[in-house]
Amino acid sequence: MSELSKQIEAKGAQVVDRLRAALVEYRTVCYASSLGPESAVLTDLIWGAVPQVEIFTIDTGRLFPETYDLIERVQRHYDRSLRLYYPDSAAIEHWVAANGVNGFRDGVARRSACCAVRKLAPFKRAVAGYGAWVTGVRREQSASRALGAPVEWDAANGLHKISPLLDWSEDEVWGYIRGHRLPYNVLHDRGYPSIGCAPCTRAVQFGEDPRDGRWWWEREGARECGLHPRRTAT
Ligand code: SF4
Repeated sequence: MSELSKQIEAKGAQVVDRLRAALVEYRTVCYASSLGPESAVLTDLIWGAVPQVEIFTIDTGRLFPETYDLIERVQRHYDRSLRLYYPDSAAIEHWVAANGVNGFRDGVARRSACCAVRKLAPFKRAVAGYGAWVTGVRREQSASRALGAPVEWDAANGLHKISPLLDWSEDEVWGYIRGHRLPYNVLHDRGYPSIGCAPCTRAVQFGEDPRDGRWWWEREGARECGLHPRRTAT
């Protein structure tokens, strides 16, 4: 085993320890899978070693076909069901009637409102009653995420937020995926480093920031869906 592989396995064991400690401290813990590369690592560690952590993901209704294929492949790989949460259909009908089916392109406020209906509301329902939720965010992903902490109080949702991959590098994430032959979204091989809803995600060119592929028509500091608060260094 190479030094990198040993380092990755050691970091994976640390994540398992943190999740077990979180179960002791918070009693009920869920993991909000983004279906990105980090989710491949966390899903493997959770279903392999800490299955008491409930895994869910949100189907916004605007995902890529390749993302739905990934959901199927993940479920077959582990022979387990991923719990899917959906937006409220009446809320979407109301939003579309007021803003148009692609109205999220008309300014940050409208885009944030679409994310609120399609992502934040089902997320709030999914985490209700849990002591903590787990996210796969990493410091490298953006200047805002670099300022995150391994455990934080998520005041908007009333529970703790745990980020066990915060200090993982992209190479470590992909080293784990390849080393364990895990399913991942085929769009990652076509220039999509970060994948969300289809109309709000594009491929990036070599040298571009990975987050440039999300909501690229907005200024840099605004590009979060609301699950992770935007921070700036003081
Ligand atoms: Fe709406 Fe785009 Fe947010 Fe998806 S990413 S919820 S389509 S604004």
